Amino acid sequence: MSERQGEHQGDYQGQERQGTRGTRGTRVTESESRQAAEQARESRWDLPSFGKQLFLGDFQLGLISPHPRQTDDAIRGGEDFCARLRDFCEVSVNGALIEREARIPDETVKGLAALGAFGMKIPQEYGGLGLSHLYYNRALMIAGSASPVVAALLSAHQSIGVPQPVALFGTDEQKALYLPRCARGAISAFLLTEPDVGSDPARLSTTATPSADGSEYALNGVKLWTTNGVVADLLVVMARVPGGGTSRGGITAFVVEGSSDGITVENRNAFMGLRGLENGVTRFHEVRVPTANRIGGEGEGLKIALTTLNTGRLSLPASCAAAAKLALKIAREWSGERVQWGRPIAEHEAVARKIAFIAATGYAIEAMVELSSQLADDKRRDIRIEAALAKLYCSEMAWRIADDLVQIRGGRGYETAASLAARGERGVPAEQMLRDLRINRIFEGSSEIMRLFIAREAVDAHLAAASEMIEPGLPAARRARGAARAGRFYGRWLPTLVAGEGQLPHAYAEFGPLAPRLRYVERASRKLARATFYGMARWQGGLERRQGFLGRLVDIGAELFAMSAACVRAQMDAREDAGGRGRHGFELADMFCAQARLRVDELFGQLWKNTDAADTALARLVMSGRYTWLEGGVIDPSIPGPWVAETAAGPSKRDNVHRRIN
Ligand SMILES: Cc1cc2nc3c(=O)[nH]c(=O)nc-3n(C[C@H](O)[C@H](O)[C@H](O)COP(=O)(O)OP(=O)(O)OC[C@H]3O[C@@H](n4cnc5c(N)ncnc54)[C@H](O)[C@@H]3O)c2cc1C
Repeated sequence: MSERQGEHQGDYQGQERQGTRGTRGTRVTESESRQAAEQARESRWDLPSFGKQLFLGDFQLGLISPHPRQTDDAIRGGEDFCARLRDFCEVSVNGALIEREARIPDETVKGLAALGAFGMKIPQEYGGLGLSHLYYNRALMIAGSASPVVAALLSAHQSIGVPQPVALFGTDEQKALYLPRCARGAISAFLLTEPDVGSDPARLSTTATPSADGSEYALNGVKLWTTNGVVADLLVVMARVPGGGTSRGGITAFVVEGSSDGITVENRNAFMGLRGLENGVTRFHEVRVPTANRIGGEGEGLKIALTTLNTGRLSLPASCAAAAKLALKIAREWSGERVQWGRPIAEHEAVARKIAFIAATGYAIEAMVELSSQLADDKRRDIRIEAALAKLYCSEMAWRIADDLVQIRGGRGYETAASLAARGERGVPAEQMLRDLRINRIFEGSSEIMRLFIAREAVDAHLAAASEMIEPGLPAARRARGAARAGRFYGRWLPTLVAGEGQLPHAYAEFGPLAPRLRYVERASRKLARATFYGMARWQGGLERRQGFLGRLVDIGAELFAMSAACVRAQMDAREDAGGRGRHGFELADMFCAQARLRVDELFGQLWKNTDAADTALARLVMSGRYTWLEGGVIDPSIPGPWVAETAAGPSKRDNVHRRIN
């Protein structure tokens, strides 16, 4: 073992003993991180939630079927804008050029602004287009198919940037000041992540110190991976206000002018995909921000960020739907044309299975995006679980779709579009699709974090009922009271999981050939709830550490939601669409459900038969250095440097690479 590996191992063990871990900087215990997440969580359920009930074994199909409708105005405005955006993208968005130059040309950005694309989600009274979520996401699909980077620019600006938190939580003055600017094309960015803060915002170290007279704050710190940050006019910045005196303190959201003194964009970052992303490292040194620019109260920043993401999360699934459609088109055209071993490759079963997976899953992804978007527009349902499930599921499945597409394309799948075109073939960007999609499983909540987030909601009713019984260290009398309460809850709830509509031969008959699929979902929903109960009974408070178990519960829930969305969509289309969608949607929904059922059954099996505990034990041995011999015989090509860059507060020593679009 090298000296450096030994040092690192020593760090790991030392930190473990103290119950804190981290590369450096803010020291935060695991329970403090959990507490921060818990405080940011919306604990109330004021509106009915299909997802919540699904995890409780209560399959409330009526919450999503019939499919919610758009108003005529929303349809007219949305269709009109999508048509204009499509024309613009076809003529003025050159995806190959953006990929080659790793930059969206300024004229393209200005053209999008002139079209109103930066104000799609902003209400009309503030100069925006006021599109519904459905049409906003359809527009992102159009833009994303022309160039995924253009969709990323628009969605980082509107789904997480200034417009959304200001519209939801801003004062009237803030709305009047910022929304019209954003609608006209002032680009915004959302800055939460720091070198030492990724999935764990409790570690956040950027500070916002109030002035003595309370009129302003001084911001100090460094933000990492700021999408749009390199060209942004306005920033939403998450910073920690120190508590004390009259100040409540805590992580707080601010709107900050990108041109403020003391802001330096120190680097433009480059990635595996999304090559035109204007993503940077932004340093704040004594940046003066008026108190009037604070969004919400002190300490409300994370809650604001999470609430913003409730619907903001749907834009990534929309990009995934766009990728799935493109993948299907390419897979179909290529597999019919390419002949090997005497037949078009589409006729070889190994390829046919991939085509079937892409078609069926693409249908389900679109159904999920559209259903969730329309539920968001309808505003009569709580959609936080559905949006989170859609983000998790669509980003995971779109990645598999792109991987299958690359495989179907063979060597050409691995070749860049530019190289294919240079030697006279169609410049199909399959490898780019794979690279561009990969980040969706990491940002706006990594898949691991999304599973924990959804699992927390899935077990919420259990925690509410049984927390006093399982919490260690409580006095015996409280534990006994807790046990009685849990007994009452489970006494009422468990019998509801024994039987349901899924066992009735004619249930869901209005769904025609899809009725058996929905009966399966109903039965599986109850089985899922029973499995959650068994997990709770077996591990009690330790369940939160069983990430393998919880992750599978969530993945089952995601499949069941996708199956439900596909069936509901197919039924609606069969009634309303005279075209191919209406006539053939059932086939795709049915096939999707057949494929999904196999995955669900496998996941159920793995709940109880898996290598989770052994994997965890092996990982510990790996981390102890026991197998470093296995790493021998290769050269580590990494450029030397610390794992996480040192980012002490203070003035910048780097050039400012911020640029204005002109
Ligand atoms: C291209 C790009 C654009 C981005 N844009 C923005 C932006 O505009 N604004 C912004 O604020 N941020 C942005 N980010 C940051 C992004 O949101 C983070 O990368 C993401 O939150 C993950 O954080 P991290 O990279 O520090 O990973 P870490 O948190 O260090 O996680 C590393 C790994 O550990 C896993 N992990 C972490 N904690 C747990 C846990 N408790 N249980 C199980 N697994 C865990 C993670 O899932 C991941 O696999 C961007 C990142 C990229 C690469």
